[in-house]
Amino acid sequence: MAAFVPVSQWGLFPDGDRPFVVAGPCSAESREQLLEAAAGVKAAGAGVLRAGLWKPRTHPGGFEGVGAKGLAWLAEAREATGLRVCTEVGGAQHVQACLKAGIDMLWIGARTTANPFQVQEICDALRGADVPVLVKNPVSPDLDLWIGAIERLQAAGITRIGAVLRGFTTLDKTPYRNAPVWDMSTRIRTRLKGLPLFVDPSHMAGAAEYVKELSQRALDLGACGLLIEVHPHPQEALSDAAQQLDPAQFKDLIGNLNVRSSDTTDGTYARTLEELRARIDGVDSRLLSLLEERMRISRSIGALKKEYGVSILQTGRWEAVMEGLRKEADAIGLDRSMVEEIFSTIHDYSVKVQE
Ligand code: PEP
Ligand code: MN
Repeated sequence: MAAFVPVSQWGLFPDGDRPFVVAGPCSAESREQLLEAAAGVKAAGAGVLRAGLWKPRTHPGGFEGVGAKGLAWLAEAREATGLRVCTEVGGAQHVQACLKAGIDMLWIGARTTANPFQVQEICDALRGADVPVLVKNPVSPDLDLWIGAIERLQAAGITRIGAVLRGFTTLDKTPYRNAPVWDMSTRIRTRLKGLPLFVDPSHMAGAAEYVKELSQRALDLGACGLLIEVHPHPQEALSDAAQQLDPAQFKDLIGNLNVRSSDTTDGTYARTLEELRARIDGVDSRLLSLLEERMRISRSIGALKKEYGVSILQTGRWEAVMEGLRKEADAIGLDRSMVEEIFSTIHDYSVKVQE
């Protein structure tokens, strides 16, 4: 597969932009609304205007987007502001209409990424087109489903591809609409080296008040770009009203982001980082060999229990072990919940090797 093209070489964002900001309303609602949104996000420094034309709505009968007639509004907004424009595609017909209208970038939505048939249909329609495509994570935290969609695009010859972390459906209680599961951003970049990563804090948040903190977290974790919903009058929005920022809030957010450089040429920094990383590597190796030793002992315990006909799982013993570990963790200043999580996993594997 061809290497991923860095976003700075996509020819979409102004030179020197960082982070790369895609912003605009959840949905294009009218020509006026879109032009007003475009002017607002341009003034705050976004590089690309977003607006959904075909909206995947959970329930039927809601606002399902203005459809193909919005393509001309996007073109007009591009003309008026100099912003490049992008929209969501959910099938071959959307792709064909966008390519014909010269839309600068497309994105595949979370519900679509979850469906390989649909993704393949989009890729077949894209074959031979040279347009950048962003792939939102699927609604469930299924890394391979997300990667699979990207592989299909690569196989169709698309070279400018970015992933968008927009959070995941969860039954856990969280303040957000979609749980961020930040470690998915690391895992996908470990599997697909050089893959540009955007974050969509708006769909993660579900509420305007959280968009700022999630944007900052995204940059701290090394995301190169953000996808943010901005509406000239959020309270009147026909979709996702609660999470859209108004242009002033958006400007404030962009102006106050703390952008850390991903690298520096400072010698002391590089040397110190190298030393710290070497120490981490050493600790990791020690952890591994301790784990190996622990698993070996577990196997011996398993053999002993078998010989004497005793059941493997003895919850009383495990509860006592965990309680002891919690106390030790507190005493040395380690986060209890981290210790609980790590040791529960180790325990699960110990039980497995005794079977
Ligand atoms: C959107 O960007 O408006 C959208 C529908 O997002 P998602 O696919 O992430 O839900
Ligand atoms: Mn939306």
